[in-house]
Amino acid sequence: MTIDLRSDTVTKPSRAMMDSIAKAPVGDDVFKEDPTVNELESFTAALVGYEASLFCCSGTQANQIAIMAHTRSGDELICSDLAHIYLYEGGGIAANAGCSVRLIKGDRGRITRTQIEQNINADDVHFPATTLVCVEDTMNKGGGAVYDPLEIQKIKSLCTERGLNFHCDGARIFNSIVARGAQHDSLSGVYDSFSICLCKGLGAPIGSMLVGSQEFIQRARRIRKRLGGGMRQAGVIASAGLFALQNNIERIADDHRRAVDLELILNSQSWVKSVMPVETNIVVFELAEGFNAKIILSALNKQGILALAFGNDKVRMVTHLDFTDGQLADFESRLGSLDFEMNTSGSVAGIY
Ligand SMILES: *Cc1c(COP(=O)(O)O)cnc(C)c1O
Repeated sequence: MTIDLRSDTVTKPSRAMMDSIAKAPVGDDVFKEDPTVNELESFTAALVGYEASLFCCSGTQANQIAIMAHTRSGDELICSDLAHIYLYEGGGIAANAGCSVRLIKGDRGRITRTQIEQNINADDVHFPATTLVCVEDTMNKGGGAVYDPLEIQKIKSLCTERGLNFHCDGARIFNSIVARGAQHDSLSGVYDSFSICLCKGLGAPIGSMLVGSQEFIQRARRIRKRLGGGMRQAGVIASAGLFALQNNIERIADDHRRAVDLELILNSQSWVKSVMPVETNIVVFELAEGFNAKIILSALNKQGILALAFGNDKVRMVTHLDFTDGQLADFESRLGSLDFEMNTSGSVAGIY
């Protein structure tokens, strides 16, 4: 059986989740008449201690709506040079919001209050107006790094002092919350908005939530419609999201435990130079001299293990709901039979 560690997006809905989908009452959500979507939106807001939330098609859509709602064309936002909103959302910051970006090099993608403060443009007609700060927690390209909540508080104070909006790409925010052992509503009042992916570690097939104040979500709803994200009997998919939030948050700790096991196994392989410290469910490792991502991915592939290239010299593996302890044991034994084709050169298509 294939062991798929490419992403935590590869999970498939469980039988119990499918049952909840089959039973979900539905209506036209553009008329706000879908009871399941309404329940998901109020449940999410209450869970994380915010006024309101909006069900979106994808994490990209949720982030893009937030950026559009917080800025005007010609503004500038500040984020990490590794941020998903900058690297992996198809140029949406420029195309959708018409904004420029100030990129900061952080510690595994975590930028600090001091760095942000140094990159706020002066109030001068020459400069684009800095109006938004975006962080990402956990930090995908930083190997699943978790933000220090004290630093987040400092950034929040800066944003308040300087009148900036503060958004978090929280695709994996529950990985951060579970890893820190924090309360689900511990981020209440911290961000002006954040997104949550339902279809990653939480195991739903589709959807993300955008969270914020009542007034913000009202504006976000208009933008979602403009982007073609107004769905009708969306309760069919919202029920899976509700099921995910009600059943699959605490079990994320199992994914984190298995990721640490992967780290230990990988650290003892001759073809691995070093593994980024594992904090959550993402394992990124650098390859030893003489190897490249193409060689490693094809050797793993032949043993039925799927992973993703992060550039030519790094590989990413992500643990998730459908990666079991049995598969973990299998993984270790399959590594014993790896067969490298060392003349495989060149880069891997679809580098993340
Ligand atoms: C997956 C992900 C998103 C959203 O991606 P979609 O594929 O659009 O759902 C946003 N930010 C981060 C950090 C992600 O990992």
